[in-house]
Amino acid sequence: MTNLCFGCDTKQHVEDEAIEEMIAFQLAMEVNKVNEKEWYKRQAICENCPARQGPTCSKCGCFYKFRTALEGKSCPINLW
Ligand code: SF4
Repeated sequence: MTNLCFGCDTKQHVEDEAIEEMIAFQLAMEVNKVNEKEWYKRQAICENCPARQGPTCSKCGCFYKFRTALEGKSCPINLW
């Protein structure tokens, strides 16, 4: 399945597997991450949110699995 990346200037179709790899690669370089329990809690909220479009949050343009892992980030509509 392909998804549209809303965060890019030029819209790109990205395969799910490639998205997971990109997120894992980027997260491996991040130092300020929440613990796993908090990460899964945030992801569960995103997964039930009507603003989520596939792997992307339509409110901020981020991949939700990436944004939810970061300590300094919050939901753009204050759901977590
Ligand atoms: S970050 Fe907030 S607005 Fe975006 S998908 Fe998650 S819960 Fe919804």
